[in-house]
Amino acid sequence: RGKRAFIAGVADDNGYGWAIAKSLAAAGAEILVGTWVPALNIFETSLRRGKFDESRKLPDGSLMEITKVYPLDAVFDSPEDVPDDVKANKRYAGSSNWTVKEVAETVKNDFGTIDILVHSLANGPEVKNPLLETSRKGYLAAVSASSYSFISLLQHFLPIMNPGGATISLTYIASERTIPGYGGGMSSAKAALESDTRVLAYEAGRKGKIRVNTISAGPLGSRAAKAIGFIEKMIEYSYGNAPLQKELLADEVGNTAAFLASPLASAITGSTIYVDNGLNTMGLAL
Ligand code: NAD
Repeated sequence: RGKRAFIAGVADDNGYGWAIAKSLAAAGAEILVGTWVPALNIFETSLRRGKFDESRKLPDGSLMEITKVYPLDAVFDSPEDVPDDVKANKRYAGSSNWTVKEVAETVKNDFGTIDILVHSLANGPEVKNPLLETSRKGYLAAVSASSYSFISLLQHFLPIMNPGGATISLTYIASERTIPGYGGGMSSAKAALESDTRVLAYEAGRKGKIRVNTISAGPLGSRAAKAIGFIEKMIEYSYGNAPLQKELLADEVGNTAAFLASPLASAITGSTIYVDNGLNTMGLAL
């Protein structure tokens, strides 16, 4: 039987989530995606109109099929948590069942179980602010959207994950080294995500034989990264200083995710795996 994957955080064909979906599809997995509610309309329209057809191409020439797109807002666990202004928002009112609990229930009703859960989402409203100028609200929002969202997804999907399954999230080295510009509590959120990866690996391993890993990815010019404002500089810096002086392709992260989700990685859990052309290993580059 082929495996079934749910990938949270796909809203265009530029980010890591899309590349992971493709690598998993190329390995034979069935693909379900969770798309942020405000981005849902344009993503579905673009898919339908064939705008992504070129980038849906898999190595064997076929096109990646996305079996179903679920609206998702991973900062809300259940309908009781949704404030009135969000409920009334036109973009949200047009969709339903997009809290984490409801998405997991809908996936269960639609397909019964999944094997692979991918968290490829982050949001920090004050990312452009240095940590020293970050508000409590901005900091907590970054951790809610970028770290707790993974706990919530695993909490709600674990009961429908087949034993032997795997989860993967995406992190960034700003969790452990200072990266000026990656502000708003986003560095803190990634540190939490990496620590949670270890604790959740233990808990989900014992409870459901599920592996939990995170990929520390190098810089990619995704939509989210462009919003931070200095991604081109980071890419240039990596090119100049990493052991491998080549562009980092989203597919390289996708392929690592496919490996980590596969039985080839059956003894890897609780790990932070670097996919960054080796940049993390450098002290001084000459
Ligand atoms: P991306 O824009 O493709 O992905 C981020 C996604 O998160 C978007 O689709 C967005 O709609 C979604 N999202 C935001 N808030 C959400 C919410 N509340 N509920 C559901 N979805 C929400 O950008 P990306 O850079 O590929 O980001 C994917 C992951 O990779 C993130 O965790 C990011 O921190 C991580 N990462 C990125 C880089 C980089 O340089 N791009 C480097 C290391 C790690």
